[in-house]
Amino acid sequence: MRTELFVDGAFRPAASGTRLLVLDPASEEPLAEVDAAGPADVHEAVEAAARALRGPWARLAPAERGARLFALAAAIERVAEDLARLEARNTGKPLAEARDDLAGVIKTFRYDAGAADKLEGATIPLGPEVLDLTLLEPLGVTAHILPWNFPLGMLARSLAPALAAGCTAVVKPAEETPLTALAFAELLAEAGIPPGVVNIVPGTGEVAGEALCRHPLVAGITFTGSVATGRRVMALAAERAVPVVLELGGKNPLLVFADADLDRLLAEIVPAAFENAGQVCSAASRLLIQAPLFEELATRLVERVGGLELGPLISAAQRARVLDMVAEARAGGARILCGGGPPAGRAHGFFLAPTLVRDVPSGCRLAREEVFAPVLLLEPFTDEADALARANASGFGLVAGVFTRDLSRALRLARALEAGSVWINGWYLGGQQAPTGGVKDSGFGRERGLPGLLNYVRIKNLAIRL
Ligand code: NAD
Repeated sequence: MRTELFVDGAFRPAASGTRLLVLDPASEEPLAEVDAAGPADVHEAVEAAARALRGPWARLAPAERGARLFALAAAIERVAEDLARLEARNTGKPLAEARDDLAGVIKTFRYDAGAADKLEGATIPLGPEVLDLTLLEPLGVTAHILPWNFPLGMLARSLAPALAAGCTAVVKPAEETPLTALAFAELLAEAGIPPGVVNIVPGTGEVAGEALCRHPLVAGITFTGSVATGRRVMALAAERAVPVVLELGGKNPLLVFADADLDRLLAEIVPAAFENAGQVCSAASRLLIQAPLFEELATRLVERVGGLELGPLISAAQRARVLDMVAEARAGGARILCGGGPPAGRAHGFFLAPTLVRDVPSGCRLAREEVFAPVLLLEPFTDEADALARANASGFGLVAGVFTRDLSRALRLARALEAGSVWINGWYLGGQQAPTGGVKDSGFGRERGLPGLLNYVRIKNLAIRL
């Protein structure tokens, strides 16, 4: 297991002399101690990325860059089972989910590999005396600050398009989950990715993350994480006026109308709210149910969800926070229909039973904040206008969903819902090709698809008098 920093194509100990203790969230046992980058280490990594940007990476034709990213996808595929097992141990997620994550990582690298030679500028019609055109240039050295819920998935989502666009990168994994990013680094050389193009610097947010955001050679930052940290990253980026992409949290409403296909809903709700133990930015976390259906659906949901076996939450602190929020809601009159605490028979690990809650007072934290756990709030609504008002009454705006057989209603709502994505009669729709991102507190900028590549280019206008 790799535990050192990966800088300029080689593993090396951190000059900082400090380490991160990485736990197995299912057993609470230590899994590894990983070097933690300090400011000097981050500086070395950014310098290496800046050299690589001017060096061999810049001299490759875009099609050749793409070929190397295809080779990287093949290298990941060859060891995907090992990476999935490591991801499952470090995050606590079930192996089947980690395998799905790896399949997504491979698809992402292939998607962006194929786009490397298709980033085209434009010719601008200025008249007979001037030829005007745009060049798409790589943004430069990019910083990628990652969360712990999909460690390799989130790495791929921002790193693959950055590399396809010709950028070089410094990646800071989350403190809790640095292991697969380091294992991934071992594959770069065999895929022909030159030293310095990708650097991996585990470390704390306050030290390594801030050093990265402040570094004068970093030309752009992609941040995926919480709202509070996103604001901090943006403030640091503002000091140097560099662009940021902020992929922040969600509090995603799913609207179920009385005419909905309930069997389909019940099949979708398990992954929608409980996959990755609910630790997904785009998880369904508020189920708004049209009043005549409410009692019947609540009963069926308890039957469906109550016995699910889920992986643990990432940390003791995260579970304690969720339990606090549930306790506050209960004190305010909320009713816990199932779950609400650790599952029976689990003496170790940061487990939380799948939890359904109704009658949650609107002012409490459970109603307002992202919970990021297997907790689904149930709330009745009367009609379309009421559903829309409740759905939009949130500071977040990542995803919203509608289950109805009335297509006109679904499309009216799709326009009116304040969210970066709207999913109709399904959940977790979309893929590597479809852009994702938020509005309001959920952030801005879009990842995945062709818009995701445009985060990593800048436009130069070239005008020639004829
Ligand atoms: P977090 O904000 O605590 O940490 C995210 C990253 O930021 C970590 O690598 C951390 O070390 C770093 N960081 C912390 N303080 C920093 C600072 N001052 N300067 C620079 N970097 C700093 O988030 P988390 O708890 O790891 O992740 C969970 C959050 O991520 C949830 O809110 C979730 O919704 C969000 N998320 C969003 C998306 C999306 O696409 N919108 C995807 C996955 C996760």
